[in-house]
Amino acid sequence: MAKVLVLGGGFAGVEAAIYLRKHDMDVTLVSDRDYFYIYPTSIWIPTGESTREDVSVPLDDLAKAHGFRVIVDSVSKIEAKAKKITLESGRILDEYDYIVVALGQGKIQLKGMEHTLSICGKPEEAVQLNERLNALVAQGSGKISMGFGGNPKDGSAVRGGPAFEVLFNVDTMLKRKGLRDKFELTFFAPMEKPGMKMGHSAVEMMDKMFEMTNIHKQVGVKITGFDADGINFEDGTKLDSDLTMFISAGTGHSVIEASDLPLSDTGFVVTNEYNEIEGFENIYAIGDSMALVGPDWKAKQGHVAEVQAKNVAYNLFNHSQNIDSKHSYEGHLNILCVMDTGNGAAFVYRDDKRGKLIPMPIIGHWMKKGWGWYCRNSKLGKIPRIPGM
Ligand SMILES: Cc1cc2nc3c(=O)[nH]c(=O)nc-3n(C[C@H](O)[C@H](O)[C@H](O)COP(=O)(O)OP(=O)(O)OC[C@H]3O[C@@H](n4cnc5c(N)ncnc54)[C@H](O)[C@@H]3O)c2cc1C
Repeated sequence: MAKVLVLGGGFAGVEAAIYLRKHDMDVTLVSDRDYFYIYPTSIWIPTGESTREDVSVPLDDLAKAHGFRVIVDSVSKIEAKAKKITLESGRILDEYDYIVVALGQGKIQLKGMEHTLSICGKPEEAVQLNERLNALVAQGSGKISMGFGGNPKDGSAVRGGPAFEVLFNVDTMLKRKGLRDKFELTFFAPMEKPGMKMGHSAVEMMDKMFEMTNIHKQVGVKITGFDADGINFEDGTKLDSDLTMFISAGTGHSVIEASDLPLSDTGFVVTNEYNEIEGFENIYAIGDSMALVGPDWKAKQGHVAEVQAKNVAYNLFNHSQNIDSKHSYEGHLNILCVMDTGNGAAFVYRDDKRGKLIPMPIIGHWMKKGWGWYCRNSKLGKIPRIPGM
């Protein structure tokens, strides 16, 4: 039986391990965390509607359910040609027939970013956002700003949706506490039309939502850095802020950037449509780690990572059996998310033909909650998978 090493325990790595096991491969997964973190439902941690535990699934439980091994350690070096992986503990893994790289991405660093917290960073930051928000609520008033940054080299690495979600959830929470009029909420981003990836009508709808919720907008000017008390812009203006949430755009993972893997301008692994790395034998890259090829609006998303993971399980197994059949991720690129507001949601969909944002008051919120439950339990094998989810 061929031995496969999966690097990373996020959406891409866990899904790859599960589907490789369905092909009876011998699978070991390395992760620097001992849990799988369901990022899409972590947006409720800042407002206290969910805890970190609610959105974490122990890797040991997943390993038991599917029969793969887990090594909790950090990958510190990848020598792809030699198929040699060095871990932070000093352990060397060089006995595997195949390697699947699924380490996620790094973040572009801006001056003073230590004064901000991100919902897309380490899970600890979501908990800190909750603590900082609680402190402001206890104080009774304040200025809260949330936004995201751009990556001029690769728009697919820009993640904006969670900034909208957390901001609308904070608005809903403050209204429920009867404190909304005591807080100034501002959305900020450097681009003229943030969210354009979702399409024109979605951006118009977002503007209406900002108006309806009295959330200010500060867009179209480059961010030069952050201070403890606000955000600085290129035109010399400063947005005063007591609590700043900033989602910096993605860039290459530092370990991948230091490796011998072929990289895009932004530091993502260059693969073909089958997630194979040309010129390298038996190595694949999937999820946020790899350079997506496709339309301008393409976005690194969890469901794309999962399609790639399933494809790689299929492609890798067929390769090991000398079967000439492969699956491509092309044709599966779309933007799909339920953007939560705390009291409802908006269904966002974008493909080559259309871009839609459909408001779903109340029910949308519960649909997203239901998806979180489905994600955990279907991955643990407790309920069947719904095709395409
Ligand atoms: C707040 C938020 C909301 C989102 N909402 C949606 C949504 O609604 N729909 C959607 O489709 N997508 C959504 N996404 C995007 C989606 O979560 C990502 O595309 C997805 O997580 C990518 O999976 P990945 O496995 O490639 O990377 P990650 O999930 O980042 O996983 C990488 C894994 O590698 C591990 N790792 C990193 N470095 C090392 C190392 N050196 N050694 C060992 N292990 C390491 C990490 O601990 C992690 O487990 C959202 C993302 C965020 C942050």
